[in-house]
Amino acid sequence: MSIIEKVTCHVVAAPVQRPFTSSRGWLYKTRGSCIVEIETRDGIVGWGECYGPSQVARAYIESQYAPRIIGRDAHDVEVIWDDLYNRIKDYGSKGMAISALSGIDIALWDIIGKSCGKPVHKLIGGAYRTEVQSYATGLYFIDMDRLIEEAVEEATEYVRQGFTAVKMKIGLGSPKLDLQRVRAVREAVGDDVRLMVDANHCFTVPAAIRLGRELEALDIEWFEEPISPEDLDGYVEVTRALDMAVAGGENEFTRWGFRDIVARKAMDIVQPDVCAAGGISECRKIATLAISHGVECVPHAWGSAIGLAATLHFLAALPDQPPSFRPMPPLLEFEQCENPFRDELTVAPIEQRRGIVQIPTAPGLGIEIKRAVLDRYRVA
Ligand code: CA
Repeated sequence: MSIIEKVTCHVVAAPVQRPFTSSRGWLYKTRGSCIVEIETRDGIVGWGECYGPSQVARAYIESQYAPRIIGRDAHDVEVIWDDLYNRIKDYGSKGMAISALSGIDIALWDIIGKSCGKPVHKLIGGAYRTEVQSYATGLYFIDMDRLIEEAVEEATEYVRQGFTAVKMKIGLGSPKLDLQRVRAVREAVGDDVRLMVDANHCFTVPAAIRLGRELEALDIEWFEEPISPEDLDGYVEVTRALDMAVAGGENEFTRWGFRDIVARKAMDIVQPDVCAAGGISECRKIATLAISHGVECVPHAWGSAIGLAATLHFLAALPDQPPSFRPMPPLLEFEQCENPFRDELTVAPIEQRRGIVQIPTAPGLGIEIKRAVLDRYRVA
């Protein structure tokens, strides 16, 4: 038994030196997070993270979830998940209600692992792999006068650092300019680097199909969020029209949210985020659902070292899709934009070598949190 005694939300934010944007037009001027800390009666501390607006996650946790889990056994993690979900779903079965629930789920898995002396992935099916290939996510839009040059420089730098796969942003309001920029990056990194594009759902169906055909000629591995997430019929059209893989799902939640996407094969790759879609417990179910429909599951990741570690354990226990003699394992999204919570929050930072990241092997999430970093960036 690991009886839950206390739940604390650490809302943190740090300024970004060089603000950046995607096709959404959001200028990222700060990086922040709602970090969840859960303590048990016998002194075990578990850490979790919630994706999205951190004050909203905190409000859900402090007002709705925390009072319901105090006194319960962390090992009842899925029972607790069901209870919290069924309590909240009449008021919102997607979005921040589920992000907040994700943070709790991850923290409970950290506690379970620490109480058993095992890394989380050994408790959710085991290690299909001990390391994962990662791809660098970056190539946002920063300097509007040097969009092509900055993309080439950034991509080349990732390759120099050892990355063998890179994902770049597109959606500059001109498919011609997008294409020019992707072509310049492809030429700069060469044919051996795996290259993906992410439109953050800024295109119409016909625009996505037209651009997609051009991108296929540049050997783009997947086209992420070509169109709006609400338009499932549109996703079916784009996915059928293109030979390249179409990916999406970072803004979808729970097994029920992903059910129609995978049953209709509206995407080739679904990308649930462990800090948003319902935590490790729920992403396991989403992955099973996807695999049973022949849809690949490659998680989205955007956050602190806690979210990254949770994603690594999820990836370690994710079956090869499909199993084969030399399978192509799912990739880790290793976002590279400025973020002290990814680089400084843990005693040993999570790092890549030749694009490869080791799955943590210490108990729980396998990371040690530096409380001084939480204190430094704490938001009142
Ligand atoms: Ca994305």
